[in-house]
Amino acid sequence: AKDEGGSEHCQYEPTLHVHAEERRKLEASLRHALERDEMSLNFQPVVDANDETVVSFEALVRWNSEEHGFVGPDKFIPLAEDTRLIIPIGTWVMEQACIEACNWPSHVRVAVNVSGEQLIEPDFASTVIGALSKSGLEANRLEIEVTESIFLRDANVARAALEQVIALGCTVALDDFGTGYSSLGYLRKLSFSTIKVDRSFVQGAVQGSAESLAIINAVVAMAESLEMSTTAEGVENAEEAEFIRKLGCKKIQGYYFGRPMPAHDARQIFVREGLRRA
Ligand code: C2E
Ligand code: CA
Ligand code: CA
Ligand code: CA
Repeated sequence: AKDEGGSEHCQYEPTLHVHAEERRKLEASLRHALERDEMSLNFQPVVDANDETVVSFEALVRWNSEEHGFVGPDKFIPLAEDTRLIIPIGTWVMEQACIEACNWPSHVRVAVNVSGEQLIEPDFASTVIGALSKSGLEANRLEIEVTESIFLRDANVARAALEQVIALGCTVALDDFGTGYSSLGYLRKLSFSTIKVDRSFVQGAVQGSAESLAIINAVVAMAESLEMSTTAEGVENAEEAEFIRKLGCKKIQGYYFGRPMPAHDARQIFVREGLRRA
């Protein structure tokens, strides 16, 4: 009889209850993920659209939790952002990505995703300086990827932080372009070096959507006039790659050219490219 009240209460909002409980458990585990060495980085190649050689790798964080198994970034990054755990996790990602990039040929760059919450921390630029000096990576080999969402809140603080890292010699890419809150105004205010066209437009255009096609054409034209580069995301086969190349995107990323892979496998790509050239 003692339990009845509890279970009855649960019946009203069972999913909410379960979600809150699961979230609390995930958060507790996430709090210890770094010290338990449960985080790792995968690297996904970005290729030159014309000659298909690797120009950079995007670092993508992975969490293999003792309690929860493999948890995808789409699940734990938002949780990390809500709990400020993104600050230590983001610092770790930045350092590890720079350290790994030192093992690649010097023309190959590394791209690191940075959340708005990280960007508006007063010592964001120091974190970048720290990662560069700790690893010995030249600043011009590091690209910071941010999404449009950073401009929704504390836009001036976010912009100032990006200007600081640009002053160091790093570049900034605008990620998932077109999916979020879109205002072209900030494209003028900040010198992005690359616009990443979201996978949804790439898929849409290939499947015959006139709207997606028009958007990609407009982004490519705009990027060119602003002297920015474009990267198409989520290209999964040869047909899509050819289609995107013809639209004038400068760089391509997607499963067709390589899935996100462990650091060791990423290094092997250069061995293969070297053999192909020789
Ligand atoms: P994103 O920055 O847009 O990263 C690209 C995502 O698209 C990755 O998912 C990648 O695996 C996936 N992808 C790449 N090529 C293809 C393709 O051809 N087809 C399909 N279907 N998918 C493709 P992932 O690794 O699950 O990452 C999801 C998101 O998590 C990222 O989206 C990024 O927003 C966030 N994230 C990952 N690592 C970090 C990090 O270190 N810091 C922060 N703040 N966010 C991160
Ligand atoms: Ca990204
Ligand atoms: Ca993206
Ligand atoms: Ca995304």
